[in-house]
Amino acid sequence: MDFELTDKQKMIKNMVREFAQKEIAPVAEEIDKEEKFPHEIIKKMAPLGLLAVMVPQEYGGAGLDTISYAIVIEEISKECASTGVIASVHNSLVSWPITEFGTKAQKEKFLPILAKGEKIGAFAATEDNAGTDLGALETTAKLDGDEYVINGSKTFITSGKDAEIHIVFAITDKSAGHKGISAFIVDKEKTEGFEVGAIFEKLGIHGSVTSELIFKDMRVPKENLLGEEGDGLKIALATLDGGRLGIAAQALGIAQAALEESIEYSKNRQQFGRPISKFQAIQWKLADMATNIDAARLLLYRACHAKDQGGRFSREAAMAKLFASEAAMEAAVEGVQIHGGYGYIKEYKIERLFRDAKITEIYEGTSEAQRMVISRDILK
Ligand SMILES: Cc1cc2nc3c(=O)[nH]c(=O)nc-3n(C[C@H](O)[C@H](O)[C@H](O)COP(=O)(O)OP(=O)(O)OC[C@H]3O[C@@H](n4cnc5c(N)ncnc54)[C@H](O)[C@@H]3O)c2cc1C
Repeated sequence: MDFELTDKQKMIKNMVREFAQKEIAPVAEEIDKEEKFPHEIIKKMAPLGLLAVMVPQEYGGAGLDTISYAIVIEEISKECASTGVIASVHNSLVSWPITEFGTKAQKEKFLPILAKGEKIGAFAATEDNAGTDLGALETTAKLDGDEYVINGSKTFITSGKDAEIHIVFAITDKSAGHKGISAFIVDKEKTEGFEVGAIFEKLGIHGSVTSELIFKDMRVPKENLLGEEGDGLKIALATLDGGRLGIAAQALGIAQAALEESIEYSKNRQQFGRPISKFQAIQWKLADMATNIDAARLLLYRACHAKDQGGRFSREAAMAKLFASEAAMEAAVEGVQIHGGYGYIKEYKIERLFRDAKITEIYEGTSEAQRMVISRDILK
């Protein structure tokens, strides 16, 4: 067992950190304040391969392993969790299922466009009545000649407004229950009947625009069916296993940033004639944060390694996402505490980290859903 990153992974970490510090950090506050989708940053990420980290090189991707992918999302999220989730959805929830389940023609058509950032990706599964229980979705798709006609709506879709390539889940055979759900690749530009509905105002990740999508007799060519009819739920769940690694990495980036901000602040803030870092109460908070972060990183890298070995890694991914998201929330809460009143003021980065951390315990499966996956596996 080797706990060291490879030379290539270290090089990627340094490259992405440098990029994030130079290109993302200076605008992260503005992105949050103005709730601005970071188009400029996304454009700059493409030539570095950061929008197609695990996509094979023959389709324009960087062809890297999953640990490298986790490193990319952590380093980006450390500066801006909004950019982190946009990149995570684009890589894990859109490019990955096309790579894994797509036909050669679908891969040739969509992966290079996504890799170049010409079109942003979104994953449209959640509906008003289908959140944790994804199998309860109600959107329908009916084959009519060479096209599927899709009717229904989706909610809470990350990048829903700005994305062009959407992976959409809909029922093709109601009588088949969970095996009657299918997945489609929808290119918004070429599709009539696709509308963006409400844009949600959120607690955090303000730069990641979250919206409703409405499909009214939306016609999608038959060749855009992903996998076979009835494979939809299987594709969604397999995709979310990988997506959870992205969200665990996002959480890790937020937690690491909270720790670094807190160390810096506690060394500089003087009370009772000394830096507050000299007080044991503060030292123990920092020690707990650092320990949780190391444990989260190890769980994440183990899950990434398990994914690259092939086979199922649902339990490892759920453990990594559960632990990393709770570590992020705890680090953000304690980080604000260490900053005292200043932690509650928008001028300090820890305030944004506190707001951004919470979502990691909710999307791509709530913490309760992760515990369901883990307990189901250990009890089987
Ligand atoms: C900012 C944001 C971005 C998102 N991005 C996307 C996206 O890009 N694509 C997409 O498809 N979805 C997206 N989502 C949806 C997200 O994945 C869901 O919100 C999440 O899965 C929970 O579903 P829900 O909100 O319907 O909550 P519910 O499923 O209604 O859950 C409510 C509560 O009940 C608990 N609960 C539910 N079932 C059980 C059970 N069986 N046992 C114990 N507890 C249970 C939950 O853990 C939670 O605490 C996003 C959501 C947000 C807020």
